[in-house]
Amino acid sequence: MGLTQNATVVDDGLKSELSKKGIVVTTMNELYNWGRRSSIWPMQFGLACCAIEMIATACARYDIARFGAELFRASPRQSDLMIVAGTVTKKMTPQVVRLYNQMAEPKYLITMGACSIAGGPFIDGYNVLRGIDRFIPVDVHLPGCPPRPEALLYGLMELQKKIDSQVIEKTEWYQKGLTREFPIPELGPRGLVPKFNPEVWQPREVDHRKERYGQPIVIRRKAKAPDLDAAPAPPRPAAAKPQPTQPPKPTV
Ligand code: SF4
Repeated sequence: MGLTQNATVVDDGLKSELSKKGIVVTTMNELYNWGRRSSIWPMQFGLACCAIEMIATACARYDIARFGAELFRASPRQSDLMIVAGTVTKKMTPQVVRLYNQMAEPKYLITMGACSIAGGPFIDGYNVLRGIDRFIPVDVHLPGCPPRPEALLYGLMELQKKIDSQVIEKTEWYQKGLTREFPIPELGPRGLVPKFNPEVWQPREVDHRKERYGQPIVIRRKAKAPDLDAAPAPPRPAAAKPQPTQPPKPTV
């Protein structure tokens, strides 16, 4: 049996008995994953209000250090977790993808908040990306506006479970010919080019929104906004005052 296989020859009952005597039985794979999941280094960057919750998670009350993930690194080269905390604008998207590309393998990504998952309250904004998963793969989606620090800790635990389930021999970053460089979009005059990475995300073939939510509410077109830069209008001439009329004289 290979050293890296998850299955052990020692059953759980015997393992537990041996651990009481101070003997630890494990596999190389378990040991490796235990080390990785207990020392996740997130990247130190935030995009909007969700980042405040992320910062709170690192403070004393919630203390992300309990999970070994307190070392927020200021460089993507030293990080293995990107937490996209906040609204991703189209202008910011190329930078986020570039930073993700610069992170060393194995790397993971948590999208924190409705904004980074799907645009959140700004979904109809012309400048907001409707989900970072259009360009880079996401491991954990964390909904909420904003998600509380407990939610981020829960997302981190889910990520730890994922790391625990990986097998060294099969993980993609140890395979030959791995190319994990994601194309960086460019911001053109009409938004991002391309609009999404088809290897990571594809639009739905059938749009079920009408069936689920009914007909969309159509809002009337807004009146044209006033031009604040226009020259001020000349003052109006004062209106002539009306002359008081004399009452008719009484006839005798
Ligand atoms: S999801 Fe809500 S709290 Fe988070 S960045 Fe968007 S608007 Fe702010």
